[in-house]
Amino acid sequence: MAGVVAFPKEVSQIQEMVRWANARHLNVMARGLGSGVMQGIFADDDTLILDLSGLDAIINLDKISGHVTVQSGINGWTLEQALNNQGFTTGHFPQSIALSSVGGWVATKSIGQYSTRYGGIEDMVRQLQVVTGTGDLYTVGHLSPRRSAGPELLPLFIGSEGTLGIISEVTLKIWPVPAAEEGLAWSFPTFATGLDVMQTWIQAGLLPSALRLYDEAESARTFAQVGGAVMIALFQGAPEMVRVGLEVAQDLALSRGQALDNSIVERWLAARNDVSAWGPLLQQGFVVDTIEVSGTWAGLKEIYQQVMQGASLIPGLLAITGHSSHVYSDGANLYFTFIARPASPEDAPSLYREIWQAVMDSTRNAGGSISHHHGIGRIRQPWLAQERASELVLLEQVRRVFDPHDIFNRGALWPR
Ligand SMILES: Cc1cc2nc3c(=O)[nH]c(=O)nc-3n(C[C@H](O)[C@H](O)[C@H](O)COP(=O)(O)OP(=O)(O)OC[C@H]3O[C@@H](n4cnc5c(N)ncnc54)[C@H](O)[C@@H]3O)c2cc1C
Repeated sequence: MAGVVAFPKEVSQIQEMVRWANARHLNVMARGLGSGVMQGIFADDDTLILDLSGLDAIINLDKISGHVTVQSGINGWTLEQALNNQGFTTGHFPQSIALSSVGGWVATKSIGQYSTRYGGIEDMVRQLQVVTGTGDLYTVGHLSPRRSAGPELLPLFIGSEGTLGIISEVTLKIWPVPAAEEGLAWSFPTFATGLDVMQTWIQAGLLPSALRLYDEAESARTFAQVGGAVMIALFQGAPEMVRVGLEVAQDLALSRGQALDNSIVERWLAARNDVSAWGPLLQQGFVVDTIEVSGTWAGLKEIYQQVMQGASLIPGLLAITGHSSHVYSDGANLYFTFIARPASPEDAPSLYREIWQAVMDSTRNAGGSISHHHGIGRIRQPWLAQERASELVLLEQVRRVFDPHDIFNRGALWPR
């Protein structure tokens, strides 16, 4: 039979479709808004796609506690605007905010540009409603900020990529829109010096909303005519806290680099979701992509060096650059962007895989993790089996509890 796409408008219809697919052993794939970049959805003839974009209601707004409950297919930007109108924000700003759904955020374990202050989606989700592989509906998690009532099931669904259940409803923590915000920008002689400053700031307790450091080549491309490795930071909150944050940050960076004009931050804010430069490059046959990984402060510079060295050996690679944009007390992410020219259009897929292989292998050799926030899908699967080798038997047993008949997104995430 040919593949089928269904557009449920109610949770009961998801349950019905899952039961219907079970009887036919179809491969059921949830689709939020389709912005995932890891081939998480890859349909063939025995596929049932559940397009959840019609489940887009805001169900409840609790302004006292700071919670919003939504249907999972709601567009992230639609939700953000609705919250802003009430004086609130999710604090979650992936670059794809206008292209992605809240259910997709949870399913891929996504993260936004303001993560240093607000965290990743895992720090925001309080409760989920999910339809498991038998078509049964469960609520996992609790609205209370913390509980000690046995192991939680909710975290299993964060990053599950549609393989454990269909997320139909999400309750997120929300925040009042910050009263003030101000940016600062610095240039450091090297990327490594900038990483040291980021580490110093975070470990001193500074919490800018956005904190980004670009290597020398990416700085030159992004902020023409500014030398060195550029760092930008955006502080938000009560005006006095913003002022103190800026002062402490400046003091801690003082001897290591040079302060830049704040207009750089304004430029970044204005263009931060614009990826229009990619279209023409792809049309001209270039191979272009981004790869994000993570590591500890002790290992981050080594990961960066090994990735740069490993990738630069590949014939056809024209450039690879890096930045770090999600920062924690014990480490950070690295986000690589590459462009390559295949010898012929037929060579493009193998060149693409070769570059991925080099970045994944270098990251693993240097002790990093293969993915910071885009997830696994079908592209990263070979390396997931390596990184999680010691857990695979347990993970498979967990998967079967929620999807006993093996109908959810076969081919994605889990090596089987
Ligand atoms: C230009 C661009 C910029 C991006 N920037 C960021 C970024 O800053 N941060 C970031 O984290 N990601 C980013 N991404 C990746 C992507 O936007 C995220 O992974 C996003 O969370 C996917 O949401 P979606 O609704 O589009 O999911 P989809 O693409 O529809 O689905 C992705 C995966 O999640 C599963 N899924 C979706 N909805 C559900 C559901 N309700 N229940 C169960 N499974 C579900 C699907 O089966 C699939 O495996 C970017 C992508 C693009 C194209």
